[in-house]
Amino acid sequence: MISEKKDHLWEQPDVILPVMFKVALRCLRTTPVSGHRGMSQSSLAGKVAIVTASTAGIGLAAARALGERGAHVVVSSRRQAGVDKAVALLQSQNIRVTGTTCNVGDHGDRERLLQTTLDQCGGVDILVSNAAVNPFFGNLMDTTEEVWDKVMSVNVKAAFLMTKLVVPHMAKRGGGNVVLVSSVAAYQPMQGLGAYSVSKTALVSLTRALAPELAQSNIRVNCVAPGIIKTHFSAPLWGNDDIMDYFKKQMCIKRVGEAEEIGGVVAFLCTQEASYITGETIAATGGIGCRL
Ligand code: NAP
Repeated sequence: MISEKKDHLWEQPDVILPVMFKVALRCLRTTPVSGHRGMSQSSLAGKVAIVTASTAGIGLAAARALGERGAHVVVSSRRQAGVDKAVALLQSQNIRVTGTTCNVGDHGDRERLLQTTLDQCGGVDILVSNAAVNPFFGNLMDTTEEVWDKVMSVNVKAAFLMTKLVVPHMAKRGGGNVVLVSSVAAYQPMQGLGAYSVSKTALVSLTRALAPELAQSNIRVNCVAPGIIKTHFSAPLWGNDDIMDYFKKQMCIKRVGEAEEIGGVVAFLCTQEASYITGETIAATGGIGCRL
């Protein structure tokens, strides 16, 4: 007996065509990321940028790069002494800056960071979610539930919750930019850094998942995946000759990166020069291959 039943939706044009039409219409109506290009496409004058974990390393370099392009930057980290030092440094470089403490893993701290920004800067246009932790080095199978929870909570969940917090305020100003900081480890899980690597892969996916939704509010969402960058965080890597020899074999540019080389990429993504880029992860790794 020959079955009349059609197994696939595409064999039922009467069902699938109206659905496709509706989806296409909704996309046309709701993805108006602005294509307007201003006079100086690299300027961020008049913009307010929150950069988390920005009193040292890549976060501080990103804050400086955004500030140099004219943004008022809001720097933060867990320790007041670090905040004071970063504020003084950026001020000495003629950058408009506000500082406050914020542990991104803490709900109250995240809300206070946003409120301080709104009170002192009048709104927010840019979020750079840069904070990450790695409390454990060793075999993935030896990772405890506590470590796993901490890594995912700070590196992934807090990045999302911080984004969720700022988006309505960006939307009120007509749009904005979110940049998440991932890692080369997102693409090539690093030995001894299993949970951390997984958390960084999640950020690549979070970027892609957020982009279509936030395009409706004229907000672009992008991600940067640094390679080995000379900061305190990665000192066990760049400070070890054997490990560096291993990485240099994979690099085209055979040296450790500088935080400024990531800060510039972050700032570029927030300017009108990048107005047609969203949902993307830019690898800045000196040429280490990055493919999922
Ligand atoms: P870093 O130089 O060690 O700086 C870390 C910064 O984060 C400090 O300002 C620190 O200040 C702050 N911080 C740490 N935990 C925090 C928390 N829970 N809440 C708020 N602030 C916190 O680190 P980095 O190398 O620049 O790393 C920044 C980002 O780049 C991370 O997401 C990291 O995964 C990523 N990354 C780095 C490399 C690399 O080679 N360096 C490579 C790929 C990706 P306090 O101690 O005062 O909180």
